[in-house]
Amino acid sequence: MLAACILCGAQYPLAAKPMRYRCTCGGLLEIIQSFGHVEAEKMKDLFHKRLGERHSAAASGVWRYKELIAPDLPENMIVTRNEGNTGLYEAPSVQAFVGIRRLWLKAQSENPSGSFKDNGMTTAVSHGRSLGYTGFACTSTGNTSSSLAMYASTSGDSSLVLLPDHDISINKVLQTTAFGAKVYAFPGSYDDGIKWLEAHAEDLGLYICNSVNPVRIEGQKSIIYEIAQDLNWKLPDWILLPGGALSNAAALGKGLQDLFSLGFITKMPRVAIIQAEGASPFHRMIAQSSCILLPEPCPHTAASALNIGNPPSWRKARWTLDRTNGVTASVSDDEIMEAKACIDRSGIGCEPASAAAVAGLRKLVLAGTIHRDETAVCLLTGHLLKDTDAIRAYHLNNHPLAGSLPLRNEIVHVNLDSDLRSRLSAATGRN
Ligand SMILES: *Cc1c(COP(=O)(O)O)cnc(C)c1O
Ligand SMILES: [Zn+2]
Repeated sequence: MLAACILCGAQYPLAAKPMRYRCTCGGLLEIIQSFGHVEAEKMKDLFHKRLGERHSAAASGVWRYKELIAPDLPENMIVTRNEGNTGLYEAPSVQAFVGIRRLWLKAQSENPSGSFKDNGMTTAVSHGRSLGYTGFACTSTGNTSSSLAMYASTSGDSSLVLLPDHDISINKVLQTTAFGAKVYAFPGSYDDGIKWLEAHAEDLGLYICNSVNPVRIEGQKSIIYEIAQDLNWKLPDWILLPGGALSNAAALGKGLQDLFSLGFITKMPRVAIIQAEGASPFHRMIAQSSCILLPEPCPHTAASALNIGNPPSWRKARWTLDRTNGVTASVSDDEIMEAKACIDRSGIGCEPASAAAVAGLRKLVLAGTIHRDETAVCLLTGHLLKDTDAIRAYHLNNHPLAGSLPLRNEIVHVNLDSDLRSRLSAATGRN
């Protein structure tokens, strides 16, 4: 694999130890793909045929597109859990909530560890193994670590997780622990954790799996490939996604560029990156037409996966906006929780961070940026059970807004007696 610095263009072959994550100038790296001659129609047929695959790496919704993601990676290095292959759903109640003509939800929550991090982690861990690493590390507020722990245990390798000890979801930490990662909680931020890893990982023989790793971004491109394939290579007007570290926004832009330049699609959709108000340095930068990102020193949002003040991939995300005539928005925690309740009630469900995409769509429709007769896909990045505290707070606690939460669904405490019977007959209108 060949990578180039996004600041100065210096190139690095990522084919042997030590793994590089940054250029000597400090810039992040980006994988350069040389697809050679690709016949789009033939390749589409191949991808279509692989949908019937059950027992090889091509059964994965990432490795199905290996030619566009990691063409040189030896097959026997691939660690896969058949990630991807997630549903693209129409949800009429959510569509009515946001008020547009047609909406699909891409349920990345259906990945094996419950978030889209699997799409990139399978490529990162496989690449690390191909370089000879057997120890893998990340710093994470949750989903990255559960995903890493899952793949490392799948391949029989070890994983180490640095856990900033605030604003995390206990479900994700427990999942990481159960999968077998060695977890070190520390007082400090995600940014502190990344800095520490970049300084020490190589000496400790560890391959870093945070989003500074450009190989993860290549795997995450498969999300837009899958959406395109599912929609018969005709993408909607808009793709919306939540933005934290902005790796997924980077991957979306890169994946769209692949599809466009290879002739798989003929029209670029517009991309909207939605941040949580308490952690929205990227949105602020765009809204102020500034060209340098000012980190948010004390990020805070109930959407724990978005709680990042200094997103490493902001330059790549900016490129995605430039390339797709994209926009940004920010949404409050209340708007996020309202959208989440609606997505949960639709039967699909997601964690709070994912709901930011839907909350942002609703806001952009109300503002007139997105027209009611346009079409959109929202990426639902993580599973409903990733954050059970958020569910408890909305449905079961003495929520300060309890009276004005139409979707609140409290548990009713009863005795199994005739009183319950008469209550239920009254409720169902039968007796
Ligand atoms: C990681 C994550 C995000 C944010 O993605 P970035 O690539 O960091 O911007 C959003 N939602 C969920 C559920 C996540 O796990
Ligand atoms: Zn450089």
